[in-house]
Amino acid sequence: MSDPSPAVDLHAADAPPTPADACLPAPSTGEADATIRYVDSCDLPTPWATFRLHGFIDTASGKEHVALTLGELDDGEPVLARVHSECLTGDAFFSQRCDCGAQLEEALRRIATEGRGIVLYLRQEGRGIGLINKIRAYHLQDLGADTVQANEDLGFAADQRHYGLCEPMLAHFGVGALRLMTNNPAKVVALQKLGVLIPERISILVGHNPSNQRYLSTKREKLGHVIGLPAE
Ligand SMILES: [Zn+2]
Repeated sequence: MSDPSPAVDLHAADAPPTPADACLPAPSTGEADATIRYVDSCDLPTPWATFRLHGFIDTASGKEHVALTLGELDDGEPVLARVHSECLTGDAFFSQRCDCGAQLEEALRRIATEGRGIVLYLRQEGRGIGLINKIRAYHLQDLGADTVQANEDLGFAADQRHYGLCEPMLAHFGVGALRLMTNNPAKVVALQKLGVLIPERISILVGHNPSNQRYLSTKREKLGHVIGLPAE
């Protein structure tokens, strides 16, 4: 597809605070006011397909975010999608403490198989606490805390992620409806409250291993993720 016009500020649709957002601290700029600037795009060959990689800048924070796309997305049909929050340890270092890397790879693989889809890659490491605090949280987990306790012991909410940038990023590609690959119903609700239609949630049950069994159990029991786990 041809890339949309460059360097324009994109604004999120107005949306009221939501129950799903209520567990999140108020973002500095407000979810509904999220503004992002599209910068440029390029080809990105991967083992599964040659995607287009698109760069955006959050005008409030200066943070850089990207989207990977494949195929024609603006035909009105729901788009196979993953909204993936950055996990350097899982996405790049093959960490077995979580399932992020396997989920990202599976999402790209499924999109390549369909020939059409989008990954929004949001730079909110460690459920929004940042990389160094994530290392501190992992240290607490080494000492016995679970993934939610660790973040809370450091003074953070269990999940500090925000999705306000998704709506203007999707609008940039003419995408209004997603077939969303996620095990997290709260993410579905948060995006719907921002005006994104999600006619289908698609489970993405990959990357389970002995090292992340407790992490996944905690996500299921404390964060409401829909995850079928082997007998514990
Ligand atoms: Zn991870």
